[in-house]
Amino acid sequence: MRIVLLGAPGAGKGTVAKQLTAQDGSVQISTGDLLRAAVKAGTPLGQQAQAFMQRGDLVPDRLIMGMMEQRFQERPDEGFILDGFPRTIPQAVSLGLLLKGLDRPLELVVNLAVPEEVILDRLTTRRTCSNPACNEIYNVKSNPPAPGDTCRVCGSKVVQREDETPEAIGRRLEVYRQQTNPLVGHYERTGLLITVTELDTASIVKTIAGALAAQVG
Ligand code: AMP
Repeated sequence: MRIVLLGAPGAGKGTVAKQLTAQDGSVQISTGDLLRAAVKAGTPLGQQAQAFMQRGDLVPDRLIMGMMEQRFQERPDEGFILDGFPRTIPQAVSLGLLLKGLDRPLELVVNLAVPEEVILDRLTTRRTCSNPACNEIYNVKSNPPAPGDTCRVCGSKVVQREDETPEAIGRRLEVYRQQTNPLVGHYERTGLLITVTELDTASIVKTIAGALAAQVG
């Protein structure tokens, strides 16, 4: 599959993407995970991105597009679920051109529409595995990590992300409304968009699989 998951921070993009990978071996590509790994490794990209991320601002488009062009060119044939990318209209336009050049156009764009009170609750209770190769997502209320705040998948420490302070969460939601939400209209015009309002991951995955089958078949 070749799909984009749109939605506010905390809408469930990462959790849904992980479930979708089991459907046909497509990979999850999360720009947030790639950037956090770059920050942790101290690469030039990570050093440039870190301050933007800590504040809850977007990393500049040119850095994101450089990273994603490289990622697509390294493995041009794989199916993908894009999680957290594109996040601005210029990124969406560049992505369209890039995929056209690779003859791998998008098949579906899914907008995960989740009420703001659910988002706020999820973001403050979310915990993430600190191992960049794992990145399993937990929730202290509904899906807690193993005792000692360790990851049930890889055993690494499970932590609260640096950008999940109340200030950074507020900024990320504002940035989402201003810069990312316009992508809903952008993709609506392409005829590729579906909006999903369910909150339960299993039913969201089922709806997406059905829409994909209808779109592709
Ligand atoms: P996420 O894990 O998707 O919530 O992303 C965490 C942070 O990484 C965001 O708040 C941004 O600072 C940065 N980021 C992730 N994806 C993008 C993107 N496509 N464009 C710009 N910044 C991004």
